[in-house]
Amino acid sequence: MSVRAGIVVTGTEVLTGRISDQNGPWLSEQLLTLGVDVAHITICGDRPADLTAQLRFLTDQGVDLIVTSGGLGPTADDLTVATVAAFCGRELRLDPDLEEHIAGIIRRWRPDAPDIDEGPTRTGIRKQAMVPVGASSLPPTGTAAGVVIPATTGDAPIPTIVILPGPPGELQAMWPSAVVSPAVGEILSRADDLEQETVRAYGLHEARLAETLRIAETRIPDFDRLEITTCLRRGELDMVTRFASDDADVYRQLLDVLTEHHARQIFSTDGSTIDDQLVEILDGRTIATAESCTGGLVAARLTDRPGSSAYVMGGVVSYSNDAKSDLIDVPAEMIAEHGAVSEQVAAAMAEGARRRLKTDVAVSTTGIAGPGGGTETKPVGTVCFGVSIEGRPTHTVTRRFPGDRERVRSLTTTAALHLVVQQLKRVG
Ligand code: ATP
Ligand code: MG
Repeated sequence: MSVRAGIVVTGTEVLTGRISDQNGPWLSEQLLTLGVDVAHITICGDRPADLTAQLRFLTDQGVDLIVTSGGLGPTADDLTVATVAAFCGRELRLDPDLEEHIAGIIRRWRPDAPDIDEGPTRTGIRKQAMVPVGASSLPPTGTAAGVVIPATTGDAPIPTIVILPGPPGELQAMWPSAVVSPAVGEILSRADDLEQETVRAYGLHEARLAETLRIAETRIPDFDRLEITTCLRRGELDMVTRFASDDADVYRQLLDVLTEHHARQIFSTDGSTIDDQLVEILDGRTIATAESCTGGLVAARLTDRPGSSAYVMGGVVSYSNDAKSDLIDVPAEMIAEHGAVSEQVAAAMAEGARRRLKTDVAVSTTGIAGPGGGTETKPVGTVCFGVSIEGRPTHTVTRRFPGDRERVRSLTTTAALHLVVQQLKRVG
């Protein structure tokens, strides 16, 4: 690929792991869709010398673009602009218009702020209005402005550097204006016209997919023009392929080979998730959950989406046997006879939740997440599911998942969504 970028995430809180980095992955994804190859994401603390070292490293790698996140605040430990300016050998100048713009933002936020025109607040504003010579500023989406410093050519070249704020919402809101800035626009005009497609499969092992890819490689003449990455996420296998727009036909050939071998496991070729598909296939019908071992994770996943109140009526976390009986009418004798982890109980949970919450569909989970509680016949990882759909016999199934408690619960949650979609597909 012709254009390469590096991302520097700054902030001691990210470095120490107190918060996990959202900006690096987000920027990387944005750059990839613009046809820019991200060579490195580095993380450093708030110390200027460390940031300088990262800038030096990326410059030496010959990247065309560096994007930094964090350290644009008004306080003394926010030193990104000054550090990057020094690295580029550019002085800082006060931009009076920007100073007034930022003062205006703060005035609107804190109309009764007494010290806006003097004292520490004004010092902070002035600090945030310092712009390196020859750079352009990006309008604040919080209080801090971003900065674009065009590349320095000559004996000691320095790539174009974009400086963005740390708070992810501010950074993401500012990104569009960075993309259209002249210095970044010039770089993007040299980037390849790339496309990215995602195939998602459920119940397909990575090794099987790798085998199929080897077959595809022998069959498709220009196979090596596709850049393929696969990853396992929440029990699903995602395969992301990037290719130049001119090679769309090569990708179509790959898709043919994949669907020929794994038609049953591939559930999405258009980027949609199982969550998207569930909403689509519900098609206005309502849903409820009855959860034991997942403790509400299925309901949380369903309600992750804005607008889910239109079809998610509610969920019952019936963790104890009493709760199963009292809240969703699972007969105590049934639990005594078959055990709480049984398809009988899973069916009764789904039916009870559907009746109590008056929905068209309900799904239940009851299993042994571990580490304790396993038996010979029902080892850790055993989970029973029930899906109750209006006017249909209740469907049940038992699955056994590998891994620790967290993994079993996560795999169970994904499985529950797939099960509902599968059952609704059968009903139509
Ligand atoms: P502020 O004016 O808020 O200080 P800033 O540009 O100086 O903005 P930082 O001080 O680096 O940004 O970060 C402010 C807060 O933004 C952090 O405490 C953290 O909550 C969030 N944040 C910063 N960087 C990241 C990141 N890479 N991923 C997720 N959150 C981040
Ligand atoms: Mg800060």
